[in-house]
Amino acid sequence: MNMKNINRRSLAFVMIVSLLLAVTPITENAIAAPDTAPSTGGAQAAPAAVAATGPAIPTAYGAFTSSYAAAMYLPGTNTIRVQPIRTYLDRSKPMIALTFDDGPSQYTEHIVELLDRYDCRATFCVIGNRVGPQKGRVRAVAAQGSEVVGHSWDHKNLTSLSKKKIRRELKKTNQAIKSVTGVRPAMYRPPYGAYDEKVRKASKKLHLALLTWSYDTKDWKSLDPKKVYGRIKKHAEGDQILLMHDIHESTAIAMDKVIPWLVGQGYELVTVSELMYYKGIDIKPGIVYNDGI
Ligand SMILES: [Zn+2]
Repeated sequence: MNMKNINRRSLAFVMIVSLLLAVTPITENAIAAPDTAPSTGGAQAAPAAVAATGPAIPTAYGAFTSSYAAAMYLPGTNTIRVQPIRTYLDRSKPMIALTFDDGPSQYTEHIVELLDRYDCRATFCVIGNRVGPQKGRVRAVAAQGSEVVGHSWDHKNLTSLSKKKIRRELKKTNQAIKSVTGVRPAMYRPPYGAYDEKVRKASKKLHLALLTWSYDTKDWKSLDPKKVYGRIKKHAEGDQILLMHDIHESTAIAMDKVIPWLVGQGYELVTVSELMYYKGIDIKPGIVYNDGI
């Protein structure tokens, strides 16, 4: 890849992320007007203009992401597609889906910037109650082209809850994500990877697939960038879904080396949806997915 290109892309990306974090959210106005009508004055919000003429943010992003802008403004609520999929990737290359749980946090942007610099994407499994307070970060993930799925509202072990409470956890989280990204996720990651028949049935009812992982980097345990990098170097292989957490600074630092190393080894770093697409696996509600095999 051309270095000039990378630098230009990185600069543009940093500028856009700053913009996303600085301005009053404008995108959900087009999606969920009742929630976002300016209450007092609303000097920065321009919902009608945004909806009618197209958004400023995706236009700016249009220079270097393929098609997120289109999906952001699809009116349908029942779409099963989580994010637009890059259909131009090299099928002959091995693919790995990096996944980041428990965020967003102040370390999320760093990971997103790295992903963008290397033309990679990942899947972020966000805690529902963190989405609203940190919507700029969630939007930055989505705008980069990475995937946002839920990880429950407050990280309870779903197997210990009633069906009704499970559904509430999942629904609330999906609504929070949709209000920020415009897209209702088609899958989620249960906290602790814990599920049973009751959880699966409740998920199926909400048209949600379950996502676990095939390799645990144990980043939460070591909190050591070198160890995270070392484990991935030793165990990386095609079709993996790797578990990490973007709430740890050590994980964000590890990505400085992990992402370029994986790219250098010839891996395509993809979202889980992209992995499924390329492996010809249909994402179905109530089914558990842990790799691309
Ligand atoms: Zn978690």
